[in-house]
Order: sequence, then structure tokens, then C-alpha cells
Amino acid sequence: MSFTSVAQRPRGEHGHIANTSEALDWVLAVIAEENGSGCRDWPGCCNPKGYGQMGHEGRIRQVGHVVLELSGRPRPREGQQLHSCDRPTCAAPWHLHWGTNLENRAESVKRGRTSKGEHHPQAKLTETAVREIRTSSATLATLAEKFGVGLPTVQKARVGDTWRHVRVDESGTCGVVIEDGQVAS
Ligand SMILES: [Zn+2]
Repeated sequence: MSFTSVAQRPRGEHGHIANTSEALDWVLAVIAEENGSGCRDWPGCCNPKGYGQMGHEGRIRQVGHVVLELSGRPRPREGQQLHSCDRPTCAAPWHLHWGTNLENRAESVKRGRTSKGEHHPQAKLTETAVREIRTSSATLATLAEKFGVGLPTVQKARVGDTWRHVRVDESGTCGVVIEDGQVAS
């Protein structure tokens, strides 16, 4: 899919996406195809925690927040974006829900307990993992074991043969200014 062709879709008179359903269509159109588990990985910029970011109504916002709102679920007071798939890069509306800070922490604890001593259940890297691979001083073997993937996968990600769109700058963010309605890639 070409981001350019998507970005050239008609906009509202102020250069913004005209309405809610069109905006949700636009977001879903730029999100990667499903990876078999129903996930839609955000192809653009991510914050240091691995959550996708996009320009929306003049602000840089988390893609999940925008997707939740556009799909009719406004953010409750102090609501946190939770992923049923446990993948911060995923912006599939069917994997997103709002939760409290307490629920967020409870899910983290549960995940830590269930994955302890086992291989990482995700045999595929995430953008967060790729950033860690590129910034960590750990050996390739250590990182391969940590993320449950093979050595070549880690090596290719580290040198940029794969995951070229993931950038790491000094602050751990991608350092790309996102214009309204644009995807930083
Ligand atoms: Zn997902």
C-alpha cells in the first residue's frame, strides 16, 4: 500500500479529515494488513513505549486513542488504552479498549506471570522490540532468546535490513514531526 496515495485523499476545507467515519476509514487504510491474529500494526511513528502516534486535530496523539474515539468510544476520565493482544503497535479497533490504571497494571502482572520461564509467545518482533534491539548493548543471542525469535531475525532488525521504518533517535523517539492527517514513516 502506498501511503502517498492514501494521504492524497480529499480532505475537508481546513485540510483536516472531514468527518468521523471518513477519519476512521483513513486510519484503518494506512494500518498494515492483519497479521493473522487480527492485529493491525501502525506503520508510522511510535512513542518510546511503542504506541503509535499520529497528527489529529492539530495535536500529536496516540493512534489507539484516536481509533477508540473514532469508533464511538470516547476516553473516560483517566482512561488508559489497553490491548487485548498485548501489542502496543496494534491499532485494530477490535483489540482496543479503555481501562483504568489499576486494570492496566493487573494485566501487566498477569502477563508477567504467564510468560515467566517460557518463550515469548510472540514469534515476531514488534517495533518496541526493534528499538530495544537497536539501543541495547545485549548480545544478539540474549535478545533472540528474550523475544523468542532466531538470531538472523535479531541481526537483520539491528542492522536495518528489516524494520527500516523504525527509527531511534537519542530520546528514543523517531524525531519526526507529524503534520495533521499525515503518517510519519
Ligand atoms: Zn492486536
